[in-house]
Amino acid sequence: TSPVNASAELLARRQRVLGQGYRLFYQEPLHPVRGEGVWLFDAQGKRYLDVYNNVASVGHCHPAVVDAIARQSAQLNTHTRYLHHAIVDFAEDLLREFPADLDNLMLTCTGSEANDLALRIARHVTGGTGVIVTRWAYHGVTSALAELSPSLGDGVTRGNYVKLIDAPDNYRQPGAFLASVQAALAEMRAEGIRPAALLFDTIFSSDGVFSPLAGEVAQAVQWVRDAGGLFIADEVQPGFGRTGEAMWGFARHQVVPDLVSLGKPMGNGHPIAGLVGKSALFAAFGRDVSYFNTFGGNPVSCQAAHAVLRVIREEQLQQNALWVGHCLREGLQALAQHHALLGDVRGSGLFVGAELVSDRENKTPASAEAVAVVNTMRQRGVLISATGPAGNILKIRPPLVFREEHAALFLDTLDAVLTEVAQR
Ligand code: PMP
Repeated sequence: TSPVNASAELLARRQRVLGQGYRLFYQEPLHPVRGEGVWLFDAQGKRYLDVYNNVASVGHCHPAVVDAIARQSAQLNTHTRYLHHAIVDFAEDLLREFPADLDNLMLTCTGSEANDLALRIARHVTGGTGVIVTRWAYHGVTSALAELSPSLGDGVTRGNYVKLIDAPDNYRQPGAFLASVQAALAEMRAEGIRPAALLFDTIFSSDGVFSPLAGEVAQAVQWVRDAGGLFIADEVQPGFGRTGEAMWGFARHQVVPDLVSLGKPMGNGHPIAGLVGKSALFAAFGRDVSYFNTFGGNPVSCQAAHAVLRVIREEQLQQNALWVGHCLREGLQALAQHHALLGDVRGSGLFVGAELVSDRENKTPASAEAVAVVNTMRQRGVLISATGPAGNILKIRPPLVFREEHAALFLDTLDAVLTEVAQR
């Protein structure tokens, strides 16, 4: 069979055995079989520029990470109930990247488990139940987190202890963020609900990629703490250097969170995630509740994550994210001069949002055009996606080894595709 037929056959088999719960990217599904750096290669040998994959953050199949996994796998893999240097070496080294107050690490396999643990700790130590999340948030797959992930849609019912706030969208509704935090706290007070936590993704990825005004987050966190709650920073998307200015997205907001959840890029595709926090909180929880995660923090995962951390430092990927992210946004702003569809360009480092609007006056979301742009880009060998409640914000989030020449190729392709889509 030809590679084209092989992909078609795989699609049919997949639909038969995986059922309806799964979604594939793109109108014409992608069938990559190999990855290297910022490139993916499909079954037909066609090359794609990956401008979307924040998991393979130090580049697809980075040799240092592959080697670390292979070596430890060949020696021993167990769990966190035995002493093993790899776990402690990694924990010590990772915590060097955090403010001194954040001095403990607990390891999990997924970002969902990290957020779930954060939630349990917050509720345990505060005695509260209330949680404040953004209106189009995503925080994970467990039943507790689905309630805190309104972007999953109306099929998920929420307890009244979940209060929704507006993301700090300074393109459409400046100031709404703080006002909605105040309203959420007032609602909790009126209903006799004690707040446990304010939880948000520090780059507001699923809401549409936003940067709050200076001081806004600090103010919100202060109000929540005054009411007895904690601040949980979800760094699953922005963490590990992606936002360029710092290793963690929360640093942009001049606050030190109480708990910080990590995931996606932590093992460059190997499933390791974790929760960093103040040791007093972990101690208060640990006194009453024992926690064991069979696979979380196993030596192979820790070697993978440690290799990722070293590569980020050695290859100066945070600095690269800052510079190439700046070039990308400048390039997009230049495109906006002659493409009316491009209504707003924003983000930090290599986490860029480009909002498509069908008219700039009313900022009408150009949702259908975003679908067309994403799929036409895919046909032209460039992978991106779209986000936000209306799906009209291009999500541009490449591996951190994305260089200026890759940005130039991306911008040239987008330029042509925007022209084509506008003429349809
Ligand atoms: N938080 C955020 C902000 C995420 O984007 C995700 C995953 N998309 C998660 C948490 C959950 O992580 P995981 O899929 O590893 O459970």
